[in-house]
Amino acid sequence: MLNKLNQLLENRYDEMVEIRRYLHQFPEVSFKEFHTAAYIEDFYKKLGIAHQTHVGGNGVVAKIAGARPGKTVALRADFDALPIQDEKDVEYKSKVPGVMHACGHDGHTATLLVLAKCLNELKEELEGNVVFIHQHAEEYAPGGAIAMINDSCLSGVDVIFGTHLWAGVELGTIQYRVGPVMAAADRFSIKVQGSGGHGAQPHKTKDAVVTASQLVLNLQQIISRRVNPVDPAVISVGTFKAENAFNIIADSAYLEGTVRTFNDEVRDQIEAEIDVVASSTCALNGSTYEYKFDRGYPAVVNHKEETEYLVDVASSIKEVKAVEETPPHMGGEDFAYYLRHVRGTFFFTGAKPEGVEVAFPHHHPKFDINEKALLIAAKTLGAATVLYHQHEQNKLVPSHQS
Ligand code: MN
Repeated sequence: MLNKLNQLLENRYDEMVEIRRYLHQFPEVSFKEFHTAAYIEDFYKKLGIAHQTHVGGNGVVAKIAGARPGKTVALRADFDALPIQDEKDVEYKSKVPGVMHACGHDGHTATLLVLAKCLNELKEELEGNVVFIHQHAEEYAPGGAIAMINDSCLSGVDVIFGTHLWAGVELGTIQYRVGPVMAAADRFSIKVQGSGGHGAQPHKTKDAVVTASQLVLNLQQIISRRVNPVDPAVISVGTFKAENAFNIIADSAYLEGTVRTFNDEVRDQIEAEIDVVASSTCALNGSTYEYKFDRGYPAVVNHKEETEYLVDVASSIKEVKAVEETPPHMGGEDFAYYLRHVRGTFFFTGAKPEGVEVAFPHHHPKFDINEKALLIAAKTLGAATVLYHQHEQNKLVPSHQS
């Protein structure tokens, strides 16, 4: 069956490119992907594949039941774009001013749609079921994943696989990682309330700029002196706002920053430590503060067995030249939520454009992908799906026989 599937995917490569380029020209930002959701719905409707729309918002979920019983494998593709002006000089450039598929989610969607079409043709030979999760709003917290899960998109699902096309990685390379692969991305703000006054009379004030400056430095000691050094973590203050006049001592100051972590304990620890540092630094200066910690996506933590299975599967694809471990990424991804409910793995499919030394990074106005990666992603996800039943059967061999 796998050979047939691969042949079908190869035959439909042009269709994948056509869909990707169509979506690329009509991108929609997170939570406003109405046209894209309707396009996906229409695709499944024409093929007579069972599907549900408005899942947790603009999400679409399609299901193919195999003729033979078996496990239910879910595959996920996100479909939102970014508020970025497309500056590429190609005929499929975005037609929507200020909006662009600058992360490759158009490619994810094209891959999954064509894979669904091919698997549907082979459903008589399919063991188990396949759920196609087309997720809206990955780029903007709280994201679409959590809403789709709350709306039962994982009901009956045994395992989930997802990939991200990655422009910085060579075509033909698949990257995996067991355990944490993408960071939790949180945001915090601290408002320091001092007492302002004339720049010539500091003794009559509680200088909010001095207090907030100490606070920025003290926050870094959470990373260097409080968090276990073997646990990667980042605290970055990106915003510092205070008074504007050169000879006025600031009454208040405002800081905002981001925290990146890879495990829940360190995440909880940093949230609490920032409060301790803010409280003591402000107390030292006779000032008060307001602290807010807004949680973004948790870390993406891949399951070991499913990741190792994916490595085996990817290694068997003829277009895959290298399967390598990736270092963890400090960026966030709401695929994290699926992996907190079911087992699975999230991997990267190399999509570096041809003939370039260094690809434009994701979220760049000139970002583009190598479309040949669509076929590789489709074959890898397809093989992970059709071989999964067999993989599960093999596990049932009693261990005392070995
Ligand atoms: Mn993305």
